[in-house]
Amino acid sequence: MSTSHISRDNLETASQQLWKMLLPKIQYLPKNDQKLVETAFIQMVLAHKEMKRKSGEFYIIHPVMATLTLTDFGLDKDTLAACLLHDVPEDTSITLKEIQKDFGTEIAFLVEGVTKLSQVKYQGQDRYAENLRRMFVAMSQDLRVIFIKLADRLHNLRTLKYVNPEKQKRIALESLEIYAPIAEKLGMAYFRGEIEDACFPYLHPDIYQKFIIDSDLIIEKRQKILTKVRKKTEKILSENQIEHLQILGRAKKYFSIWKKTQNKNYEIDQIYDLVALRIITKDVEKCYQILAVLHTYFEPIENRVKDYITRPKLNGYQSLHTTVKDVASGLIFEIQIRTSSMNDFAEYGVAAHWAYKEKSKKQQLESIISPETYKWLSELIELGQENWTEDEYLNHVKLDLFQDRIFVMTPKNDAIDLPIGATILDFAYKIHRAIGEKASMAKINGEMVKLSSKLKNGDVVEILTDKRQKPNDKWLQWVITSQAAKQIRHFLKKNSK
Ligand code: MN
Repeated sequence: MSTSHISRDNLETASQQLWKMLLPKIQYLPKNDQKLVETAFIQMVLAHKEMKRKSGEFYIIHPVMATLTLTDFGLDKDTLAACLLHDVPEDTSITLKEIQKDFGTEIAFLVEGVTKLSQVKYQGQDRYAENLRRMFVAMSQDLRVIFIKLADRLHNLRTLKYVNPEKQKRIALESLEIYAPIAEKLGMAYFRGEIEDACFPYLHPDIYQKFIIDSDLIIEKRQKILTKVRKKTEKILSENQIEHLQILGRAKKYFSIWKKTQNKNYEIDQIYDLVALRIITKDVEKCYQILAVLHTYFEPIENRVKDYITRPKLNGYQSLHTTVKDVASGLIFEIQIRTSSMNDFAEYGVAAHWAYKEKSKKQQLESIISPETYKWLSELIELGQENWTEDEYLNHVKLDLFQDRIFVMTPKNDAIDLPIGATILDFAYKIHRAIGEKASMAKINGEMVKLSSKLKNGDVVEILTDKRQKPNDKWLQWVITSQAAKQIRHFLKKNSK
């Protein structure tokens, strides 16, 4: 959404223009709730006053743009009010206490969760790690903190061109390594995609322009054919009398295309899901019906059917995917079939669960997120309680919690998940501390290997223990998980006394 029409020299005009953008977007709220949002808006304008951003725009544009994003998620009045006020305690003379007095504990809690720490207490880099720690804790108490944080970050990224190049790079990298994966884990594809695409030009300025031009050429060409295929699909479904709500054509986000070309060493035109048809229907039964019917009209590509309805992704994503060929045009494309609630979840993730339930009440975390996500969140917090240096802490957050995982099997066929690059020793410690400490040798798929050997997805691992074995300094270089490192360090410390 453009802000170019917002006045740059008259605060009153600017605030009226902004309110005109916000009001139509909060019509889903009851009138009383709209009133509260309006009160927060007025407070926010009075607090920031004539403050300007680096872009020369009034500061008040920033909280409003972030809040507009959250209205697309259908979030409640407290989230919107807190988002409007999120920079007030740090950047203005109005304190958190005053916000609490005027708006209550809940909104104050949300604002506090997003607010940066005062610079007096923590200097430089430590402040950043401390911020993250605090954010994760707040997030575990109320997920709405992270919705606001992501909306805040997204608007900052979209206006990143006004800050100095060094800061651009740092913020873009941090967003890509921390915020995009959080969005991914919480199933919020919208935030993940937008954040990644906003970071792209700052992280890879050398290839960005050309990549966009190259992709657009191919996407445009395929979109054209897809429009025809879409009409054809429309006809097939109505001829077969299968009710559906919507057929959308969609193009993949740029950064995710680029990542795919890098990971799989593909050229852009080798990516089938560059464009896709998305079919939204009423219930699960219809999803399968549609899949079956379309497979008789389009030629299914082998091994490309993915049933995420029966087996949702770890972040809760559900949909049917198939890749097919339209013989007439030769176009190979992906079809995604899902119900409308699955579709909301795919875009907005846990935030959609939030909006679906009773809007005004604080939600029980466990009822909204999957057990895997809950575990991940608990680990984030646990990690923050360790005495790491700033670098160690950030490395572990990135490595343990955000990196792609591999699954390794025990001889009894239990799957153990570990970050890519994990070793035998990481595996042993992950099973149990006692096994880690006494591990002497191991077998991968029946073959004897050393404790430092790296694991691959699907490896079957057997640990051989020896009573006389004990951890030594070298072991610290053989592990990459924080759990193993922590326990080895603990052992060494205890036994050095
Ligand atoms: Mn902000």
